Amino acid sequence: MHTRPIGLFTSAACGMAAGSTTLAITAVPALRWIALTLVIVAAARVVMAYLASECDNALGRTMRRIYPFGALAYAAIIGLAAATAILHDVEQHLQILLVGYAMTLGAGIAMGNAGRPLIAVGQMVLTFLPISLACFTVGTMPLVVLGLILPALASGLTYVTFNVFSSLMRQVRAAGESASLGQQMREQARTDPVTGLYNRTGFEAAAPAVLACVGARSQMALFWLDVRRFKEVNDMYGHHTGDRVLCEIATRLRARMPEGSICARFGSDEFLLLAPMTSRKAIEQLAGLLCADMALPMRVDGHRIESGASIGIATLCPGTPDLDQLMQNAGLALYHAKVAGRHQARFFAPSMTRDLARRKEIEAELRGAILRDELSIYFQPIMDLSTGRIRGFEALVRWFHPDKGELLPDEFIPVAEETGLIITLGNWITRTAARACASWPEDMKLAVNLSPAQISAPGAALGVLAALKEAQLDPRRLELEVTESLFVEDKHETTVFMEQLAAEGVTFALDDFGTGYSSLHYINKYPFSTIKVDRSFVSGPATGLRTEAIIRAVAEMGNTLGMEIVAEGLETSEQVEAVRRAGCTLGQGFHFSRAVPEHLALRLLEEERCMAARVLRAG
Ligand code: C2E
Ligand code: MG
Ligand code: MG
Repeated sequence: MHTRPIGLFTSAACGMAAGSTTLAITAVPALRWIALTLVIVAAARVVMAYLASECDNALGRTMRRIYPFGALAYAAIIGLAAATAILHDVEQHLQILLVGYAMTLGAGIAMGNAGRPLIAVGQMVLTFLPISLACFTVGTMPLVVLGLILPALASGLTYVTFNVFSSLMRQVRAAGESASLGQQMREQARTDPVTGLYNRTGFEAAAPAVLACVGARSQMALFWLDVRRFKEVNDMYGHHTGDRVLCEIATRLRARMPEGSICARFGSDEFLLLAPMTSRKAIEQLAGLLCADMALPMRVDGHRIESGASIGIATLCPGTPDLDQLMQNAGLALYHAKVAGRHQARFFAPSMTRDLARRKEIEAELRGAILRDELSIYFQPIMDLSTGRIRGFEALVRWFHPDKGELLPDEFIPVAEETGLIITLGNWITRTAARACASWPEDMKLAVNLSPAQISAPGAALGVLAALKEAQLDPRRLELEVTESLFVEDKHETTVFMEQLAAEGVTFALDDFGTGYSSLHYINKYPFSTIKVDRSFVSGPATGLRTEAIIRAVAEMGNTLGMEIVAEGLETSEQVEAVRRAGCTLGQGFHFSRAVPEHLALRLLEEERCMAARVLRAG
């Protein structure tokens, strides 16, 4: 097909002009018929070219098929017209017009149709050959020379045509290659090289199309997975193994991908799954399956690796396809899932946004709070349930914020844990509490709470011993309270930390027993001297015969193992009596005293000494 219509129109207009002029001038019948055919074919070619390029139907296809034959026929007619003019020796100027037009057309075709060289050469031969033959037939000297010039010119032009054609082909090939290279690079820029999933760029590019497909009866859910302990795997076994772990996770994720969903890897160990789901129930089910899949141990490079994932989930209903908001919500939900512990999935809730704002404020202010002296240690007495006397105090941190008022540890300790500030804060708490305890009677013990992050910090045990030394407190007077969350990840550092301090005489209490896994395994494996039964068993709404039976069982076990059993959260004398009967040796709670500042703790000790003295005197 003609790629440049202007060229075709010009050529057709020239053909019509030459044909009409011939018709007007000559009386030779053969030439008149040929001229008429030339005019008709020239006009027909314009129509054919139009139909071939504009119609996408059967007619257009036929036009495209026969178009090259039209071109060949047109060239042959012009060659024939010029040859007939020579043979009949028509009017001199008409001969010049027809031969001149035929030769110009032949040469022009060679250049203009170089993209289809066979047609170009065919047209040229059909134009030049009849003229050349006519020249030889007439046989005059100038015409014989012209008859010879024409084949020479044709072969030169053929050479040029094929040259132009091959350079055109090279250009077309190069353009094709660079287009496919460009496509390949675009794909690479959107793909995570380790897992073959989308990367962030790819995900952001592909997500709008998925979001647009959310139907009236479906909702879009974004699952944001954070792989637990991936950094540890990388550090322990190297990046090669780390990469294979990521691939295994990607494979598990792919196997759960609902139809029409997309998956991506973000950062080093986070994965995203954007999926159209039918119901909230289906989302919960998929989240459960993903949690279970990720928790399955894997064998990579000969290592048994147990990882697991936390999952944040946000949903989007039809009509509000805002990807940014969805990602922000899923990110927040993930944050809460991480705080809740491994293998947890959390749905986004609007309250999370408020929590986050407050958390951010706390995080920003906590650093300066220690320096500004806004933190204090309060002490809550731990009572001996058989004698009714104070056996020790638990140190509980308080933050008296100038604007927000009193902040409880449940609010700022998790923030300190996440930001790593807990190390500084924890050291300060241990030092300050140890100093206070050093001024109490020798038999008073001090209980200090420790977060898991404090224990895995390098030199943690030495830090505690240094604080004791600085306060000149006998290590045997310190009891460190830890919760079961410390053992969820079976770390070697934990054992080393506990053994090192136990060797110096520090004792350990298992805090909040009954709220976690309540595994007897930990009690057996680690050197605990005390179990603190959580207050939900003592004073919570769910207390009753069953909880009493549980306390009795724990107390029995503790007594057999020579451990102290502390009942937490005692608020009434009935509760005190119940836990005492159940076998608890120690008790702590508002019934005896709230956590109080150091000077009031001293006063409690003072009062107790006076009371004891009065009892002695009375006796
Ligand atoms: P915990 O170690 O189980 O501390 C006991 C919590 O129960 C304290 O809350 C205490 O005020 C509260 N409590 C005591 N008796 C009663 C009672 O009769 N009724 C009720 N309803 N509550 C009672 P607090 O001080 O808000 O501490 C909460 C948690 O924060 C602690 O639980 C502990 O896990 C953590 N925490 C407190 N201080 C520190 C600290 O210095 N370091 C670390 N790492 N964690 C701390
Ligand atoms: Mg405690
Ligand atoms: Mg507790």
